[in-house]
Amino acid sequence: MATKFLYLFSEGNANMRNLLGGKGANLAEMTNIGMPVPQGFTITTEACTQYYEDGEKINDEIQAEIMEYIDKLEKITGKKFGDLENPLLVSVRSGARASMPGMMDTILNLGLNEQVVDVIAKQSNNPRWAWDCYRRFIQMYSDVVMEVGKKYFEQLIDEMKEKKGVTQDVELNADDLKTLASQFKAEYKAKIGADFPSDPKEQLMGAIKAVFRSWNNPRAIVYRRMNDIPGSWGTAVNVQSMAFGNMGDDCGTGVAFTRNPATGEKKLMGEFLTNAQGEDVVAGVRTPMPIQEMAEKFPEAFAQFQDVCQKLEDHYRDMQDMEFTVEHGKLYMLQTRNGKRTAAAALKIACDLVDEGMIDEKKAVAMIDPRNLDTLLHPQFDPAALKKATPIATALPASPGAACGKIVFTADDAKEWAARGEKVCLVRLETSPEDIEGMVASQGILTVRGGMTSHAAVVARGMGTCCVSGCGAIKMDEENKKFELDGKVYQEGDWISLDGSTGNIYGEAIPTIDASISGEFGRIMAWADKYRQMGVRTNADNPRDTAQAVKFGAEGIGLCRTEHMFFEEDRIPAIREMICSDTVEQREKALAKLEPMQQGDFEAMYEALEGRPMTVRFLDPPLHEFVPTEEEDIALMAKDMGKSVEDIKAIIAGLHEFNPMMGHRGCRLSVTFPEIARMQTRAVIKAALAVQARHPEWTMVPEIMIPLVGELKEFAYVKSIVTSVADELIKAAGSDMKYKVGNMIEIPRAAMCADDIAPHSDFFSFGSNDLTQLVFGFSRDDAGKFLDAYYEKKIYESDPFARLDQHGVGRLIANACRWGRSTNPDVKLGICGEHGGDPSSVMFCHDIGLDYVSCSPFRVPIARLAAAQAAIKNPRATESKCRRAM
Ligand code: ADP
Ligand code: MG
Ligand code: MG
Repeated sequence: MATKFLYLFSEGNANMRNLLGGKGANLAEMTNIGMPVPQGFTITTEACTQYYEDGEKINDEIQAEIMEYIDKLEKITGKKFGDLENPLLVSVRSGARASMPGMMDTILNLGLNEQVVDVIAKQSNNPRWAWDCYRRFIQMYSDVVMEVGKKYFEQLIDEMKEKKGVTQDVELNADDLKTLASQFKAEYKAKIGADFPSDPKEQLMGAIKAVFRSWNNPRAIVYRRMNDIPGSWGTAVNVQSMAFGNMGDDCGTGVAFTRNPATGEKKLMGEFLTNAQGEDVVAGVRTPMPIQEMAEKFPEAFAQFQDVCQKLEDHYRDMQDMEFTVEHGKLYMLQTRNGKRTAAAALKIACDLVDEGMIDEKKAVAMIDPRNLDTLLHPQFDPAALKKATPIATALPASPGAACGKIVFTADDAKEWAARGEKVCLVRLETSPEDIEGMVASQGILTVRGGMTSHAAVVARGMGTCCVSGCGAIKMDEENKKFELDGKVYQEGDWISLDGSTGNIYGEAIPTIDASISGEFGRIMAWADKYRQMGVRTNADNPRDTAQAVKFGAEGIGLCRTEHMFFEEDRIPAIREMICSDTVEQREKALAKLEPMQQGDFEAMYEALEGRPMTVRFLDPPLHEFVPTEEEDIALMAKDMGKSVEDIKAIIAGLHEFNPMMGHRGCRLSVTFPEIARMQTRAVIKAALAVQARHPEWTMVPEIMIPLVGELKEFAYVKSIVTSVADELIKAAGSDMKYKVGNMIEIPRAAMCADDIAPHSDFFSFGSNDLTQLVFGFSRDDAGKFLDAYYEKKIYESDPFARLDQHGVGRLIANACRWGRSTNPDVKLGICGEHGGDPSSVMFCHDIGLDYVSCSPFRVPIARLAAAQAAIKNPRATESKCRRAM
């Protein structure tokens, strides 16, 4: 049977999201449960992938099916494309599986041409409306289909308003709009070299192709990369008959949420504009009125709308974000979806829904986007400093959080300033989807125009970035990169602070403080812990980070990098002394100075862990990292070491490597200088014995991890050093303390030979940063230079250092786990690279059976939640070793 590429709304349902996209599936669902939805059909995401497979062409089969469905829609609506009695007008709307607000394109009022405009102008006795529709159509079609600059059209509108001495679009009359329409068409012809298409079917085919193409526009690609959405999904296209919100004052259009998307409060929140269409609300061109005012203007439609809201929430069992239009007092639903929300709102809504009996704990855990939690873990304003500060203005609290940064006026500047380490706040008249990269780079966003549902607000909430919008009090001078507020001028580079929870704007820098897990956050995390099957540890090298991580729920340390301790000012002379040593005795003498310091570090870490386990990794980086490069510092070092400058230079030259990442580092250091491994073993074991003596209630089992192992004999050699030193110390202390020796797997050879190593190793920890580098054969520090080109050419979709390359590196890890377990079923398996805190990578780790992930302290709650979601989605037969041991 031939593939079916089109579905009427009445043929689909909410479960067909993969095929129909989120918007299409929900339009179908709303149709089926009897809501007032203008009818239409959906062209599937498979048609989109087919379009790309066919070399960006709509093939004959799909074209024929589209024509068939136009016929069907004409029958359903009783209207006909291009008809001069009863013309059919439609919108053409994109809609992917995952919602990507504002990232792709929509065209309204398609089907209009000179004759049809005249007809509807006369029929409706409302020429202003008819011409408004037409000029909007030309504008959107030109922009989307032909990529004719939308700036220029806006300029024409501005000129027209100026000429007429008005400030609002709605004040332009039919003749003005008619003039604009012909100006637009002239512009189209000048740019494209052909007349604006008048045949509705030709218009429709152009629009469908444009939506397919918009799947690959640059902002959609950036958005997908940020949100882990695969490029292979494609977008569906919805063709829907129009409902008109711009036919007069008894019409309007709005956007609403069944609960507050910023706080989660159970109260309808939304915005409404009378005599308006489509993007007018979200574009932030006019500032809309709160939805509650709609009750006075449109009591019937509002009552019906409230009823719809209730039904939709009950149906989807989640907060809904809806778009609707009122045409002559009658309500039409145009969209519903599970609303995007801030992390705080997500937690409150999930808990409320559990308490309301709408969902269970598992569903609550599953409905929270782990990436969002980040915003709750990052700093808020210091209340003491905040008390002293006076806001210079207050606007809409569009996306919560605290932001403090220097003012910049363009998205490009934001990117550039942030790249050189500056904290910035992006101040814009209004944001457009093209600004997305600049928004990502900013601490906060402040806009002059736009409401709570404006583009800036929606995108900022999705990213967890603070946003204050609609600050009309700002007199903006974008050209000269400054603005005036309350009589004061603010220039580029001036400090500003934004409170996205209150909408307050401060003309100064306000310090921020750390957050904590409590209340609803704590409830959700407790549920997550109940359902997850992997352990979650942290990467930490000092007691402060350790304590922070424990507060965030870390069950131990999965990676303690000992070199970070050596870099401290009082340690580095001893390390340098060791490097400069000519004999083993000299080296041992230098190491003896380091030993008590290192032991002290470990004791402090163990105390901060309060009995939780810690994996200590032996010295890893190449030694040249510990010697100076500047002439001046070299002279100082020579003096400290009692050697000549020439000697020091010779030593430094001797440390030079062509490729330090692949040089004399990791366990290779222990092979050449076994005394380093001896010293580190003594420090770990003595620290554990001392802490055990102070805390008999804890069971200390120190874990020593050998980095950069590639071969069993190499590991066995270093391990023998560790065990001989450790056994002797433990025996001398009259203790029966157990300890573990394991290795990192970060060299592909170790992964390939995991079955050799496993019988001798207590645990493997996949060092996915180095492993990724070595599997790909490019270094993390150099990849930045060419990865962008790879994204552009669609060779890679995401940074393999941020998100685990499951197909390549991930497969190697999965195999190494299998091979390792085949010879040692008890080998404990974990991951300690950056990926340990990336939700999609954590889910992968669950699926391949790792016992634990280890990540930076601020990612611990994210990993806990992601691990729980993975376990809820795909439960394992048994709890991992790590969890059983807890
Ligand atoms: P986005 O995905 O960017 O929200 P939509 O496809 O939802 O884009 O379209 C944007 C807006 O256009 C809608 O919110 C709605 O106001 C308007 N719109 C779309 N289709 C119709 C329609 N058939 N009738 C009236 N308005 C429509
Ligand atoms: Mg929409
Ligand atoms: Mg490494």
